[in-house]
Amino acid sequence: MTILKPAIFTLFAVAALTACQGAEAPVKENMTTEKAEPTPRAMTNKDKFTYANYDEVRVTHVDLNLDVNFDAKVLDGIATIDFERVKSDADTLVLDTKDLLIKSVRIFSGGIAEGVTDYTMDAADKVLGEALRIPLTDKTDQVLISYRTSPSAEGLQWLSPEQTAGKKHPFLFSQAQALNARTMAPLQDTPAVRMTYSATLRVPDGLLPLMSASQGAKDANGEYRFEMPQPIPSYLLAIAVGDIKFKPINDHIGVYAEEYILDAAAEEFSETPQMEEANTKLYGPYLWGRYDLIVLPPSFPYGGMENPRLSFLTPTLVAGDKSLTNVVAHELAHSWSGNLVTNATWRDAWLNEGFTSYVENRVMEELYGERRAVMEQVLDMEGMKRAISEAKRPELTHLKMPEDMEHPDDAFTLVSYIKGANFLFFLEDRFGRAKFDPFLKAWFNENAFKAVTTEDFLDYLNVNLRKDNPEAVTDVEIDAWVYGPGLPETARKPESDAFSAVDAQSADWVSGTVKASELETDAWSTHEWLHFLNNLPQGITEAQFAELDDTFSLTGTQNAETAFAWYMQAIKGGYDAAYPELENFLMTVGRGKFIYRLYGALKSSEREDLQFWAADIYEAARPGYHPIAQRRIDAIMNK
Ligand SMILES: [Zn+2]
Repeated sequence: MTILKPAIFTLFAVAALTACQGAEAPVKENMTTEKAEPTPRAMTNKDKFTYANYDEVRVTHVDLNLDVNFDAKVLDGIATIDFERVKSDADTLVLDTKDLLIKSVRIFSGGIAEGVTDYTMDAADKVLGEALRIPLTDKTDQVLISYRTSPSAEGLQWLSPEQTAGKKHPFLFSQAQALNARTMAPLQDTPAVRMTYSATLRVPDGLLPLMSASQGAKDANGEYRFEMPQPIPSYLLAIAVGDIKFKPINDHIGVYAEEYILDAAAEEFSETPQMEEANTKLYGPYLWGRYDLIVLPPSFPYGGMENPRLSFLTPTLVAGDKSLTNVVAHELAHSWSGNLVTNATWRDAWLNEGFTSYVENRVMEELYGERRAVMEQVLDMEGMKRAISEAKRPELTHLKMPEDMEHPDDAFTLVSYIKGANFLFFLEDRFGRAKFDPFLKAWFNENAFKAVTTEDFLDYLNVNLRKDNPEAVTDVEIDAWVYGPGLPETARKPESDAFSAVDAQSADWVSGTVKASELETDAWSTHEWLHFLNNLPQGITEAQFAELDDTFSLTGTQNAETAFAWYMQAIKGGYDAAYPELENFLMTVGRGKFIYRLYGALKSSEREDLQFWAADIYEAARPGYHPIAQRRIDAIMNK
């Protein structure tokens, strides 16, 4: 049996996180970059993860008319696509598809049918899918594509009734970012292109469909109609269908969920309106109309996904004490950074995730004060240092990802999230909030509904902030952040008094000076618990594990972040008493942030029995995991 080394699998473990807590202790201290040579600006900023010829023809609107067929596990219907010509002589529209069955393509001009057209499909590429090439006449301005998705579409998870909490109805939800919109519909699947969309959905009786759009009521034909009037990139196309109930928080914010968790979720996320106020105060008005949250089944592979008007969330955020709501602040912040001002290519993903992680922390500070904001910065920093130390190659720790990156997943590590946020902390510290806050507000305002590159941001920074404050930062410093590896030495070094107090108590317990029962943990939040657990020293004995467990009931705790931190230590320390509950956790939680690293730790354990045990659990759990999680864990388990 081949045992994957951490460097291979751990990148998956930190991939595509939106919740950035639960970090382990840094593996390597401050991997400071050497003095960076100024790097030449990227030669090309075209998205290489799309076949779309968007420099010739641009999709402007998509209308979907779909049957949601739970028996066949497919979306089946018609996509009608409007476009405009960038080049007047363009004679082909190239769209992205993946695992789609294309039945026919008809072309239209001014609403009048021109006929059925002979489209072609390229050979399938494992990452990119298949290009759909549609020949156009001089006049064609609309195409109508009859198609069906695949039951194994990576962007869609079809849950059986048994896989839901209510057990009576099936559930469907999508995850389009980064390359999976093309498994849902034929599109120009690139963040460089924005389109409005509308949809008509037919669903089985008793189920409610929702989209990242205005939520439509059922009409006389039993159909639901949706409109998204603001132009969005394709990765924000989203659908959820299930036995879903709604509870308002205020007049334009509310929560959708299965009934079992609806009240708890509405209570957990009751401070979302204050988050919106804080965001608006700092960065300008919320421009998307309603803002609702949907709590998905536990197999949702992410902390959250910022689908516009309707953020998708994992139920593991409902901890009962509002301690994990920074993920809501994060998804809401995307309404400015990402959804409004969007990375033009996945090489620039830090413009979405770094900015959003920065705004998230500013909002947490506004709502809860500096103490909590700094604790989250420290936890994030620890996770990022681990991500840097585990990167497959140094170029993947740059903010601007290398031209030859293999998959957008490479850009969704804590590097883009937390190094990105720390670059903005660095700029904030150098220029001061009095100048930096209005600068960022103007950046969002002036680039709203546009796709931007890293170079666009640096130019904007030069013109709008550096020109009048030439001494604040140097080119070399900025290049080290953007085009250099690791964490620059100019990074902020957050220190939490709260964590120092935890460290002191921890040291007393480890040395045997105090018993676990004498630790003063009553006032500890989840953050302090995570810091305590993540930083337990090597060499804790089984008796010490058991003492902690007996005192604090850590095994089986319902707080998923705490449980994850504890199980990681239990695997490292060989604390077998935790394993039955760890198995239960792996069987019921599908959030990638947790399960990728847990499987990785088990798989790379020196104990063969743990490796085999993990393989058995995975075999049993795999059908319940999201296709994205299956792909990631298959790689970890070396299937
Ligand atoms: Zn995010």
